[in-house]
Amino acid sequence: MRAARFRPRRSLAVALSIAWLGAGCGGPSDEPRPPPNLVLVSIDTLRADHLGTYGYPWPTTPAIDRLARDGVLFRTFVSHSPSTLPAHASLLTSLLPHHHSASVPKGLMVSPRVPTLAEVLREAGYATASFNGGIQLDASFGLDRGFDTYESSRSAEDRPETLVGPETKLSHAVRRGMEWIESVDGPFFVFLHSYEIHHPYTPDPRWLDVFESDYRGLVPDSVSVQLLKQINRGARPVTWADIRHIAATYDAELRSSDRALRDLVAFLKERSLWDDTIVVLVSDHGEEFAERKSVGWHSHTLFDELLLVPAVVKFPTSAHAGRIVREQVRGIDLAPTLLAALELEAPPQFSGRDLGPLVAGQPASDLPAVGRRDKKSDPDSLGIRTGRWKLHNEQLFDLARDPRETVNVAAQLPHVVEELSTRHREIVEARAPAATVGTDTPAEVIEQLRALGYVD
Ligand SMILES: [Zn+2]
Repeated sequence: MRAARFRPRRSLAVALSIAWLGAGCGGPSDEPRPPPNLVLVSIDTLRADHLGTYGYPWPTTPAIDRLARDGVLFRTFVSHSPSTLPAHASLLTSLLPHHHSASVPKGLMVSPRVPTLAEVLREAGYATASFNGGIQLDASFGLDRGFDTYESSRSAEDRPETLVGPETKLSHAVRRGMEWIESVDGPFFVFLHSYEIHHPYTPDPRWLDVFESDYRGLVPDSVSVQLLKQINRGARPVTWADIRHIAATYDAELRSSDRALRDLVAFLKERSLWDDTIVVLVSDHGEEFAERKSVGWHSHTLFDELLLVPAVVKFPTSAHAGRIVREQVRGIDLAPTLLAALELEAPPQFSGRDLGPLVAGQPASDLPAVGRRDKKSDPDSLGIRTGRWKLHNEQLFDLARDPRETVNVAAQLPHVVEELSTRHREIVEARAPAATVGTDTPAEVIEQLRALGYVD
């Protein structure tokens, strides 16, 4: 049934011999390959610099590091929002938050006028499914559109402070994904997502032992949202050792997620699906560990610890294995890149660019990334990042000299502020925001959002 619905843009044998990803593919005499599958894994709240392959000194991600050696690593991948819904909506619609309109505090879903990656793939004959952590990805926010199956896991403990228990781990989404893959015929797209490393941090002790052995402080090995709130409003003083301990609990959960990714890769290889499947590892936003004033928190600034996320793409037949793209690329570029690699046309509404030529080594101009916080009203949310400069909340940072964004140089360089403000305005005004539609979010999801501090 699925194969009958599949409508490739041109015959796959021809397509694969001429596509840019052909370097590393077989020659024209090879058997035609089946249409590639797509597995998109999002580990929520994963900042890029906590992965081994992005230079972290602790062993958090051996499986992701191996995936990067088989694939292409995007060194400077910029998310468009430090919040789950708008950032994922940008990944899946190739539109800025200004244009896809999805917002939790405003109670707006992804505009129904906006095509999604899942819709394009389903239309092309793919079986589509998502196994995700819900809450900001709850179907009521509209990212279920285009998926034949859309399953959001719930915590076993029916309490507002959720995100604990086996159902919230990536291993759960991976297991459900593997079961689903075994049930479908023809090409498939599966989007797997987990809040495993999102606060509260509840690491398995065996993984926590990998990241620390001599902590003697007062912060427990399970770090609750309540405790993080106390720390962040100054009601609970912490030392640098405490902060390092909290980061270790996050790292330990990341190591657990990495183990699930290892199992997924092993499954695809065992089923002989590896060579014909694009595997993507990405995240929606990072996490703060005292770079500014907060620990274990996100969604409230546009600094790079919250916007730089990992992006690894393993292409069919591991084309371009080991390549590292250092140029700045953006969340909106992911979906067009994946569709091009699948030899499918992107809808005209998609606003990102295909990164294929960049991966193949062709020079490309630096395109600025525009982002904003997900707030009810956010008058100072102007945020724009180029390879060199970052302007947000009326502060300008020279990323070449000051990658940690510590010295505001706006007063010294008003012409740069002006130029970036103009580019920001041009980008935002280049298209109208999609028509907004209010959500009908279930009460228990609103309670979870409240417990996590996302709505009042
Ligand atoms: Zn998130």
